[in-house]
Amino acid sequence: MTFRCADLPDHEGFAAPVLPGGEQAPTSPVFTKTFVGYRASCSCGWSDRRQLPPTSEGAKDAEYRWWSRHVPPLLAAAPPKELVIKSDLLCEQIVRLAGDRPLAALALLSQVESWQRTLLDQAVAGARAAGASWAEVGEAMGISKQAAHERFRAYTDA
Ligand SMILES: [Zn+2]
Repeated sequence: MTFRCADLPDHEGFAAPVLPGGEQAPTSPVFTKTFVGYRASCSCGWSDRRQLPPTSEGAKDAEYRWWSRHVPPLLAAAPPKELVIKSDLLCEQIVRLAGDRPLAALALLSQVESWQRTLLDQAVAGARAAGASWAEVGEAMGISKQAAHERFRAYTDA
């Protein structure tokens, strides 16, 4: 059995059987007579540390831990859908403008760039001040933690 959050289409949680050596069975659902517990896991590779009993209660606890430990930080990092839609729409409109009136598109893109850079720096500084790691900053931006650190450390590390 798997669990899903409608706002996180790329994540599918499941109770992964844990084998006697402590390692997790590679995929779920996997039937194995020798499993000794469950561990909350996700299709993205996330895995909870705690091993739960190999019972239906253990499987339910795994679901609870996926919802309570994995989902909240992902939802906190996900931009509101209505803003994503507006951003996509703006992009499409600028693509059209660039085809019809390239100089007007250039002027508009320069305007967007002027506030986008400032807001990006502010958002990174805010995330760091709130305790986000460079890995989390990079993940939110779709870049590596090294790339995020290289690019923004001057603005955020005193
Ligand atoms: Zn996940």
